[in-house]
Amino acid sequence: MAENKEIRNSRLYLHLKKWLEIAICDYNMIEKGDKLLVGVSGGADSLVLLDLLDSSMIFVPAFSFIAVNIDMGFDNSYRGYKILEKYLRKNNYRYVMEKTDIGPVSHSEYNKKNPCFLCSRLRRKRIFEIAAEEGCNKIAFAHHRDDIIETLLINMFYGREISTMVPKQRIFGGKMHIIRPMTLLREELIKKYCKERQFPVIKNACPTSRISKRVYVKKLLDKLSRDNKDIRENIFKAMSHVKPDYLLPLSNRDRNRH
Ligand code: SF4
Repeated sequence: MAENKEIRNSRLYLHLKKWLEIAICDYNMIEKGDKLLVGVSGGADSLVLLDLLDSSMIFVPAFSFIAVNIDMGFDNSYRGYKILEKYLRKNNYRYVMEKTDIGPVSHSEYNKKNPCFLCSRLRRKRIFEIAAEEGCNKIAFAHHRDDIIETLLINMFYGREISTMVPKQRIFGGKMHIIRPMTLLREELIKKYCKERQFPVIKNACPTSRISKRVYVKKLLDKLSRDNKDIRENIFKAMSHVKPDYLLPLSNRDRNRH
């Protein structure tokens, strides 16, 4: 692991580290000897995840990791690429950075309607390939509590299903797992810690990132929170209190369609 020379002893750091460890242990995310690929976009969330994973942890078994950045190839991304590379090198992280044209391809004329679908697909495909090349058995993403809440709503509003991102997901028949160590961490605190540590955040150059469904749902939740400040917390907790008997069963008509 990278040796971090800065002293990390703020209350916020200890709070985030504690909840990261709780999530890792509660969901059995990391086992002894695991090799993690940590997806690093250069945004605040992924830089915080990298920093937290590079801490000495009390209850988490020994593991190693490599940071992987897939550069999307949007305009002006060269500067961001250089900043991130400098940061990873300075902190002695092991890393792979790859330049791609996934961004422009996903926004090309024939795919303008839904760039996110193709973009996520192509990016993930490359991440899985790099994980295999580097001998990683787990892929850690920087999705946090708020992402999980928003994804539930996005899937309901636009996908007609009740589902979200899970803390640990088995893929390729169990050969690999996706893990989300920041499952229990609130976005607000992650951003605050990022500022506190002055990480070199790279702005997302994707034109869709400002108008995506996620942005819409985030704003909607902000609006609802003004009347009920517990709304995010309630939605998060509701995902562990599902009462299947009080949901709609498949009708005969639905069954015949499936
Ligand atoms: S917002 Fe942009 S970078 Fe993010 S998934 Fe959609 S197209 Fe890709």
